[in-house]
Amino acid sequence: MPAKKLGQPLFGRVALIGIGLIGSSLSHAMRRGGLAGTIVGHARTAATRSSSVRLALVDTVYETPAEAADAADLVILCAPVGACGALAEAIGPVLKRGAILTDVGSVKAAIVRDCGPHVPEGVHFIPGHPIAGTEQSGPSAGFATLFDGRWCLLTPVPGSDAAAIEKLKTFWEALGSKVDLMTPEHHDMVLAITSHLPHLIAYNVVNTAAHLERVTDSEVIKFSAGGFRDFTRIAASDPTMWRDVFLNNKEAVLEMLGRFTEDLSALQRAIRFGDGETLFKLFSDAREIRRGVLQAGQDTAAPDFGRHAGATEKA
Ligand code: NAP
Repeated sequence: MPAKKLGQPLFGRVALIGIGLIGSSLSHAMRRGGLAGTIVGHARTAATRSSSVRLALVDTVYETPAEAADAADLVILCAPVGACGALAEAIGPVLKRGAILTDVGSVKAAIVRDCGPHVPEGVHFIPGHPIAGTEQSGPSAGFATLFDGRWCLLTPVPGSDAAAIEKLKTFWEALGSKVDLMTPEHHDMVLAITSHLPHLIAYNVVNTAAHLERVTDSEVIKFSAGGFRDFTRIAASDPTMWRDVFLNNKEAVLEMLGRFTEDLSALQRAIRFGDGETLFKLFSDAREIRRGVLQAGQDTAAPDFGRHAGATEKA
């Protein structure tokens, strides 16, 4: 789906607070679409700040988040979820009346809880989450097409201004995304099963295999088959980001983990009792789900899971 074209920048000054995979991809996509007059940024370390200038991701980079957010028309928090509350507290006092404050965090209710209290009156706070990413991180990992054809979920809070929501929706469409609106709680429940649980399982499978290799001196990793390789790719994701996801979406993940464990026990039982009929039925049902995912345009049918394209459904 081609990005929605706009005739002129939507925002004068855009501040990226955090310039890693998502922040740098936002910069590339904004530049591609001519969506911002000026892009400024803040990152925690001097190394990331200097890379962001060298890669022309930002016109100016600042040592403090408040300097970057000062006078910005759109401020996007692009740091790990656990860091966003303190960042909102730091920038709250300088946020311009009428500005939009949003974020890209993979959990939404915790963002509302941690950032909401620091948003001054007259500033439009509209949390968001692009369902697009890769297992890479840092300022050089980003690319302009990351959001093309991917969903971005906006989770407005009660009282959010309709015109500001519409403007942010237009922004994400111009970045290439499809946009949907939902409550933060609904978002967290849906993502717990579609993204957070799969990551947890990948981390666990990879660590179990690595442990087996150590204790049995077997060659699990050398001869790893396709399924395991895909798990290792998912498990290569940033540990800070994923630690924060699980710490901040605890209830929904525990709920999904409970359901998953029950269903896994049913599979275990079918294997133990040689119940091929049950196994065949469950695997056939799952295959139908994959067809649905392809029909919804959420993945390609390529046998390598479309990995060559770089962009994968994550987070
Ligand atoms: P990333 O590549 O690791 O970049 C994180 C950025 O945040 C870096 O610029 C880092 O600065 C900065 N940062 C980290 N801790 C900070 C702190 N305490 N204070 C200020 N800045 C801090 O991460 P990312 O993949 O872009 O993820 C950013 C956000 O997007 C996360 O909330 C994540 O949940 C969400 N998200 C990620 C994906 C994905 O697939 N990766 C997809 C959708 C949404 P330094 O480099 O200087 O440390």
